[in-house]
Amino acid sequence: MITIDGSFGEGGGQILRTSLALSLITGQPFRIEKIRAGRKNPGLLRQHLTAVKAATEIGQAEVKGDAIGSQQLTFVPGKIKSGDYQFAVGTAGSATLVLQTVLPALMLGDGETTTLTLEGGTHNPFAPPFDFLQQTFLPIINRMGAGLTATIERHGFYPAGGGKFVVSINPSAQLQPLELLERGEIKTVKARALVAHLPFDIAERELSLIGRKLDLPGEALHGETINTSPGPGNAVFILAESQHVVEIFTAFGERGVSAEAVANTVIKEARAYLNTEVVVGEHLADQLMIPFALARGGAFTTLPLSKHSTTNIEVIQKFLDVRFEVTSLSNRAVRVSVK
Ligand code: AMP
Repeated sequence: MITIDGSFGEGGGQILRTSLALSLITGQPFRIEKIRAGRKNPGLLRQHLTAVKAATEIGQAEVKGDAIGSQQLTFVPGKIKSGDYQFAVGTAGSATLVLQTVLPALMLGDGETTTLTLEGGTHNPFAPPFDFLQQTFLPIINRMGAGLTATIERHGFYPAGGGKFVVSINPSAQLQPLELLERGEIKTVKARALVAHLPFDIAERELSLIGRKLDLPGEALHGETINTSPGPGNAVFILAESQHVVEIFTAFGERGVSAEAVANTVIKEARAYLNTEVVVGEHLADQLMIPFALARGGAFTTLPLSKHSTTNIEVIQKFLDVRFEVTSLSNRAVRVSVK
């Protein structure tokens, strides 16, 4: 049984999700202790528990310690079962992070197509927004051989949640290694702002500042009113398309924070990427670690690794016989290769 210290490195939910994902794939049981021990509200939250539940059902696993607030969990996986599943986080907890947990096991193998319907937050701070999942992450995994599509039915913004999306997963026997080393020209930069149950003027102000600061023409700025969201929300995205990837940077509106401050947050993140020549942005980097490890090869250039990424590498190396090599290219770029 593999033992994981849930408080090491970044010390968050990622350690649990990566452990569940790789336990399902390798069939190796694990025990995790001190789950999210350093966080304000330690242990399993609803969102983590939904991920555990999804992994348990899909992997026909035996689990102990699956309760709200639990800081220990034992997970013994069985055989992966494809099919139609529906999981609801029940709060605004991120549904895209539930997907992150079970997708690797479902996209590999010779099983039938799986349809996953996930409900909860689709646009949450500190989690991949649905747009990032659909336009940034899935196309890369599809290039590696998987057959994945995602469709949103309802937006769920923090704090009300209540969003819904469907992912169809056509598994592939093996993922192919990919090299994402040269970014080439940035072909287009665009911005999108969404508002739900809030004045449209918020989107207009965000887009106008982004347009001015990044020197974008009017056609590159797109505002949208979302009517399907149960609660209010505002998200603003900057999309940068190059040869291999559409990178998406996101900021969320918050009560008491001006539209301009929200726009400035996303501009800063986009510039940190645009001012380098790397292909992969900070968040995509940590999310590519598992698929690249499963492909047992490949390489990408990215920004200096976040603690999320370095922690993820350590957990992956406990489950899989792979080695990540991280080479510094400059003070703003590294190359990650999988051996
Ligand atoms: P954790 O904080 O451990 O629950 O993990 C958060 C996950 O969400 C990581 O995989 C991050 O890369 C991802 N994430 C956080 N913010 C964003 C964002 N703005 N865009 C895409 N992914 C994100």
